[in-house]
Amino acid sequence: MDVVDLIRSKRDGSDLRDDAIDWVIAAYTRGEVAEEQMSALLMAIFFVGLTAPELNRWTAAMIASGERLSFPGLGKPTTDKHSTGGVGDKITLPLTPIVAACGAAVPQLSGRGLGHTGGTLDKLESIRGWRASISNEEMRAQLRDVGAVICAAGAGLAPADRKLYALRDVTATVESIPLIASSIMSKKIAEGTSALVLDVKVGVGAFMKDRSRARELATTMVGLGSAHGVNTIALLTAMDTPLGLMAGNALEVAESLEVLAGGGPSDVVELTLALAREMLAACGLTGGKEPADAIADGSAMDSWNAMIRAQGGDPAAPLPVSPHRHSVVAAASGRVTRMDALAVGVAAWRLGAGRARKEDDVSFGAGVQMHAKPGDIVMAGSPLFTLYADDEARFDRALGALAGAVDVAAADEAWSKPALVLERVGA
Ligand code: URA
Repeated sequence: MDVVDLIRSKRDGSDLRDDAIDWVIAAYTRGEVAEEQMSALLMAIFFVGLTAPELNRWTAAMIASGERLSFPGLGKPTTDKHSTGGVGDKITLPLTPIVAACGAAVPQLSGRGLGHTGGTLDKLESIRGWRASISNEEMRAQLRDVGAVICAAGAGLAPADRKLYALRDVTATVESIPLIASSIMSKKIAEGTSALVLDVKVGVGAFMKDRSRARELATTMVGLGSAHGVNTIALLTAMDTPLGLMAGNALEVAESLEVLAGGGPSDVVELTLALAREMLAACGLTGGKEPADAIADGSAMDSWNAMIRAQGGDPAAPLPVSPHRHSVVAAASGRVTRMDALAVGVAAWRLGAGRARKEDDVSFGAGVQMHAKPGDIVMAGSPLFTLYADDEARFDRALGALAGAVDVAAADEAWSKPALVLERVGA
């Protein structure tokens, strides 16, 4: 195979042959295609795109670059959720034990955060003793016994994606729908779930700012899932405003526990229940226990405790809280009409909750607590945010991110609550 011919062919608008796709992904993963050649191919794909058959094959080759897990003999169907990432998006935490308590097995392979959206593993690592890395055998046993696993994806899963994603990051080729779709779906399909619900975020705090592009990404990923035998649907959900009232690692764990205890902010509860119903329907568990009942009867909290203990965590241990606090108050009285998700995410990140480089540590106790959300009435001088940091020097830059993040209008001005679930994609 001549990689230069392949790059030229894609550059000039031709379709890549199946054997060429298989070869280039495998050879690149083995280190036999130079980084500059793969960079050129990615840029050609960025501009020309991939047809549906090419994308299916590209994704299959990425899956084949590593191991594909499977969970026979569990006695219950597997179902999972993937979110494209948003601010305050802690939904995986309450969702996984709720769905397990309703009778499904949830093999949730998650990642660490980079940039303004937090990572599920960083959140769970704020629980004393909890281990993100477990073996495939431990994962199988936990799925059988507890029904819920949230853990780090092992190095053997879609290794082609690890290399390609790092290369896309430094070659301005991240924002390509076929490349994003194959990256996400190769990992999710290799993870071995039989059903998948995608939460595709749209808005200022999301990767996809534009609804039509988010729909195109969702449709592409649903198609890929179906082509690979994973029953996949997607919800497009709003990410203009942060989810819930907490953004930060331990802060989000605390809020998730409120949801499992039957409380929690209404938007987090609404989205968790909507995704739980979709996950159960996608794996054929309809007419059984309702997700809201699993919260009410305590079985979801039992699943959470079992899931945390199975990975060495102490669910009763106090969560870390950063020692320094700074309050931000409303400048005027009235109704909050906008709270910018990106600004809150960047503030939490600058407070230490997120990382700028893969090797950075995160602060478990840092983050932003919101005291009001769009629709709420505030008085001048009443608190809007409490910022938490391990180091007071971080407050200035976080405050810079929050400047202009909130609009307050006259209390009697008409305001209607925007929808959280915008669209559903899939059969
Ligand atoms: N998340 C992924 O895993 N891959 C992408 O390309 C984008 C977001």
